[in-house]
This record gives sequence, C-alpha cells and structure tokens, in this order.
Amino acid sequence: MHGPRERRVAILGAGFSGICMAIRLKEAGVSFVIYEKADGVGGTWRDNSYPGAGCDVPSHLYSFSFERRAEWSRHYVEQPEILRYIEDCVERYGLRPHVRFGTEIVRARFDDDEGAWHLSTAGGEVFTADVVVTGLGQLNRPTVPELPGLADFKGTAFHSARWDHAHDLRGERVAVIGSGASAVQFVPRIAPDVARLHVFQRSPNWVLPRGDAAYSAAARGAFRRVPGLDRLHRASIFWALETRALALGGPTGPMLRALVERTARKHLEAQVSDLDLRRKLSPDYSIGCKRVLLSDDYYPALARENVELVTSPIARVEPDAVVTRDGRRVGVDTIVFATGFDALHFLAPLDVQGRDGARLAEAWRYGAEAYLGTLVSGFPNFFVLYGPNTNLGHNSIIFMIECQVHWVMRCLEELRARDRAWLDVRRDAMVASNRALQDRLRATVWVTGCHSWYKTASGRVTNNWPGFASRFWLATRKPRFDDFAWG
Ligand code: NAP
Repeated sequence: MHGPRERRVAILGAGFSGICMAIRLKEAGVSFVIYEKADGVGGTWRDNSYPGAGCDVPSHLYSFSFERRAEWSRHYVEQPEILRYIEDCVERYGLRPHVRFGTEIVRARFDDDEGAWHLSTAGGEVFTADVVVTGLGQLNRPTVPELPGLADFKGTAFHSARWDHAHDLRGERVAVIGSGASAVQFVPRIAPDVARLHVFQRSPNWVLPRGDAAYSAAARGAFRRVPGLDRLHRASIFWALETRALALGGPTGPMLRALVERTARKHLEAQVSDLDLRRKLSPDYSIGCKRVLLSDDYYPALARENVELVTSPIARVEPDAVVTRDGRRVGVDTIVFATGFDALHFLAPLDVQGRDGARLAEAWRYGAEAYLGTLVSGFPNFFVLYGPNTNLGHNSIIFMIECQVHWVMRCLEELRARDRAWLDVRRDAMVASNRALQDRLRATVWVTGCHSWYKTASGRVTNNWPGFASRFWLATRKPRFDDFAWG
C-alpha cells in the first residue's frame, strides 16, 4: 500500500500573499518552492518605496492575524516598517531557503496526462509542480501613459512605483502626473524641497482626514504585556472598518455616502481657502466610486506657494516641458508618473494554459473572473491569491488573503484525503457564483459613473469584493466540494 501522494506546491511571488501561503504550507509539512522574479521579498512593499509610501489601513490590522506586533510605531506605518515586517516573517518561519530569487515564471502549462503543471522561466528553465498558487498582486505593473513626445523628454522621468532614489529632486522643477493614492502620499514630502511642483490632475479624488498618530511607549508596552489587548485592538479596527461597507453599496449606501461626502467637503474647506483651488479639487462623482484617499497633508501641500494644481489635460511632452491642451508650456526637469497600475489584466504577462490547452487570457478576455476569487474552471490546482473580486474599498486586504489561504489549505487537505491528482471548479458552479456576485456589484457605488481601476472599459467590476469582508470569511470557511470536479 502506498500512502497519499506527496504534493509539490509552486508559489509565484514573495509578497504578502505568497508569504502567507508559504507559512501555512510549512506548518502543514507540505513541500513548496516560492519563485520570485526580484531579488528580495515584499512585493508591492518592496516596489513602492517613494517618499511617504505607507498603508492607509492601520498596521495592527494590516498584518497577519497569527503574527501580530506590539511594536508598530504608529497607526499607519510607512513602507520601511511594513517591508521589515514581511522580512521578519520570512526569517521567523524559515522561508528564505524556499525562495528562488531572480526567477520569473512566464508560462504555466497544465499537462493533462501527467496531471501536473510545467512552469517555464524566460531563460528556458522548466519546473514541475502539482499545485500552483499565484501571489502576484493586482497592482504590480505600473502604467505610464503614452504621451506624445515623451520619448524625447530630456529630463528624468520615472514611475512612483520605481522611484529613482539616486535622483535628487531638490531645487528642481517637477511635474507629477496623476493625483491618486500614491501621489497624495509623496507630493507633501517632496513639495518643500523642489523649486516648483506642478501636479497634473485628471480627476479630483475624495479625501478624508487621516488622523495618524504614533503609539506611545506605554501603549506599545501594554500591547506587549496585557494578554489579548492587541487582539482586541485589532478586532476593534476590523469592525470599525467593516461598517464602511455599508456606505459602498446596498440600501444604506446613498444616505451614508452623503454624510461622508459632507465630512470630506469640510476637510477640503478647512485646508484650502482658495475658492478656485477648492473647485478644482471637488469631485463630481459619489464618494467611494474610486478609492477614497486619507490625507492630512495633501491639501496643505497643494496650497503652498511653489505648488500648482494643473487641471487642463496634457497635450504632449517636449524635451524640457509638459504642454497642456490649453497651450500652456510648463517647463520641468523631472516627471514623476503617479499614474497607477494595469489592474485589469490579472496575472499578466504570465501565460497560463489549463486543461486541453485552454488559455487563461482567453477565458478572461471580457474581464477576469474566478470562483471565490481563487479558482478558475479549466485550470485545475491553480489558485489565484488576491484574485478577481477580492480587492476591498473599505478593509484590509491581508484579511482577504488569509481567508483565501485558509480555503486553499482546505482544498489541498481534501485532495490528499481523496488521494486525487487535481481538483477543478465546475464551470456551472463558477458561472452561478459570478452571476450572484455581479448582481451584488450592481448595487455598489463602483458602478455609479466614474473611471476607476476597479472595472473594465465596459463597466464590469472585476477587482472588488462587494459588501462585508466578513462575508468573504464566511464563504471561504469550508469549500463546497460538490462544486468541484476531481481528476
Ligand atoms: P491610481 O489611484 O490609479 O491613480 C492614478 C492617477 O493617475 C489618477 O489620478 C489618474 O487619473 C491618473 N492618470 C492615469 N492615467 C493618466 C493619464 N493618461 N493622464 C493623466 N492622468 C492619468 O494609482 P496609485 O495612486 O498608484 O494607486 C493605485 C492603488 O494602489 C490605490 O487605489 C490603492 O489601492 C493602492 N495604494 C494604496 C496606498 C495606501 O494604502 N495609502 C498608497 C498607494 C497606492 P484618473 O483619476 O482620472 O483616472
């Protein structure tokens, strides 16, 4: 008699998702390898090192539930502290020997006969795995708009997610293109140092007060010493954030949004006295349709003498200037693109081929979809962490990742218990669950008429989970194995 077969799991990416999966697999004694294209761990928290980069979910919640920290320095910590946390987790759980750095998997092909995945690198290496778990993020491919003349720009240009730390902005004339979550964090940091700062805004965002504060030594000591206090604090943050879902959809949405919009308008009025600037910064869509920004220093930065908010669309770039459509030529030394990411093409550029040669890019040509954001019919044993419709507008994505990882672990346990080679979600089950999901999404603020990275050009929301994060927790407690096919 042979025992249940040993499974080799390949994890793609060593960011929060990949690390979470690896920790759970290690605890369960399952063998795994993490393929990471860069030379370090941390994913988005390695890539986004721009000045002021941080998370607007409080750190006591934006961390693993099983790896809490009493020592978080502030409510909203900045990137170096988050990256250090991830690196600490890697050391603490002994994950480093499992990571193959500098290894980008470009192709994953399911071998129907073998019931296993072949993973190829750009350099032609091929690895075999029984199970693939991707932790590639939704926001990992920076986008730079194709502005006419950009190739001939003679100054320095870079994207906020690829910050050029060797380049000194002091005393320079700088253009920032884009005014989203990244821009509002670094604009206040660079504004005092540059000679002139021109922020090119395409559409204004709703901004709410951030209210950040450092934890006192006494508070940190209490988190260390008082049993359960950090858990209680974490839970209180979670449930406070969870109530915000009530504003993003459903019958309570419009009324609550009107209240929150009033708070945001007051914030703007308190920080910006110039009526023309206020008008330019006032959104004409419902709050929450795009990601709501939290900042106490963005508006004051825009009100500085050396900072200008430009709202006329960009016509072209010249070797030493950005030219707007109203004919203005803004001379600049450096352009910083804060223009976000390609969030719609999930997993790209990874080429995934499932059963019978089916291509994932083809299955997703009208927009990505998955069963519980994790499994796609026709792609057995291929689990997508932070996959379609798992992003949140109101709570911590680390919570969602943990839910998914829990669900994947239950699936792997069942595979082992049944001693089967693979599991696949049935197409009808996936279609039914997505129909229900899209029905719920139609009642959210995200479809109310704004442009955002949450949805496709045709308006289908592919990125966000509607409603409470706790509902996703419930949905992922126990896989419904009847929805699966087994190989
Ligand atoms: P983003 O929110 O997508 O913002 C991109 C900005 O660039 C928007 O202002 C957009 O204008 C503008 N833009 C895009 N293409 C343009 C073009 N061709 N011409 C002119 N303007 C253009 O990107 P992000 O700021 O990097 O943030 C992305 C996401 O990362 C956030 O939504 C958030 O989920 C996450 N993030 C979180 C934090 C945090 O926790 N604090 C910080 C940074 C990022 P439109 O609005 O008109 O499209």
